[in-house]
Amino acid sequence: MTKIAFIGLGNMGGPMAANLVKAGHAVSGFDLSEASRNAAAKTGVSVAGSIAHAVRGAECVVTMLPAGAHVLYVWDELLGFVDPGTLLIDSSTIDVDSARKAHALSEKIGCPSLDAPVSGGTGGAAAGTLTFMVGGGDDAFARGRPLLEAMGKKIVHCGGVGAGQAAKICNNMILGISMAGVCEAFVLAERLGLSHQALFDVASTSSGQCWSLTSYCPVPGPVPTSPANNDYKPGFAASLMLKDLKLSQQAASAAGATTPMGAQAAQLYQMFEKLGHGGDDFSALIHLLRGNDEAKAG
Ligand code: NAD
Repeated sequence: MTKIAFIGLGNMGGPMAANLVKAGHAVSGFDLSEASRNAAAKTGVSVAGSIAHAVRGAECVVTMLPAGAHVLYVWDELLGFVDPGTLLIDSSTIDVDSARKAHALSEKIGCPSLDAPVSGGTGGAAAGTLTFMVGGGDDAFARGRPLLEAMGKKIVHCGGVGAGQAAKICNNMILGISMAGVCEAFVLAERLGLSHQALFDVASTSSGQCWSLTSYCPVPGPVPTSPANNDYKPGFAASLMLKDLKLSQQAASAAGATTPMGAQAAQLYQMFEKLGHGGDDFSALIHLLRGNDEAKAG
């Protein structure tokens, strides 16, 4: 049993903290939102009144927050209350630069740290089947791994500090581009009089095969579990895809990498969000590609 503090008990952090409780750990938690605190209390998390109270005496602190600025703000605060040697794990999706800054802050006071963003969405968080992409030293990884295993089914040590965030944004750049490509192919098929099922049957067993097609098909029918069959309710919201594509473009520009397809995908999702569809599943981009009027109509 490890004493764990969990900061950020939202859509992802709430069920992740609940899985740590289920695995037999003592979890204290804090979130700014009262609704999140109440929901976490129902799953066995011992809810604290402040970050300071949540992290005192913890052997490990996990953060699951919206963006880099939140992570740096919270780590700056909590580092004033943790014991040296406490393992810090940030599982939020944030920019590589902020992840490296967070590692540097913790190193200053003798706390090992990991960046460990996830894929698998809220379903994976609830089921404990997330994939963790982890950056940090070998010793920190060895300590963190059993805790991450209580929340996920695949844990990949990607390299040193920031490597987990780098893997996350590269993966999601592929996803944003591939979903746009699959959507375009279905729109073209519609114009050519080819049925959705026929395109799916061919492409899913041919060289066009990819996750966006076979697990997350953007038209209703071929994959019954995809959000297209549920009025494009997320799933993975278009605004979150846009966030990750922007992170990939920020990283590409800082690293001098040329990513024209990533840039184009970011522009498409930006346009889709401006039309008021940020809360739709990201596969609903197909409405935009059929024509702006249909996107406006939702
Ligand atoms: P969320 O908005 O539901 O949860 C974030 C929580 O952080 C909120 O409850 C908020 O109140 C809390 N918070 C913000 N500032 C705080 C502070 N200073 N102190 C304490 N609590 C604070 O978001 P989410 O969907 O849980 O996503 C969290 C992270 O996981 C994001 O970085 C997101 O990109 C990433 N992610 C989300 C998904 C998904 O499908 N939702 C999938 C993979 C990764």
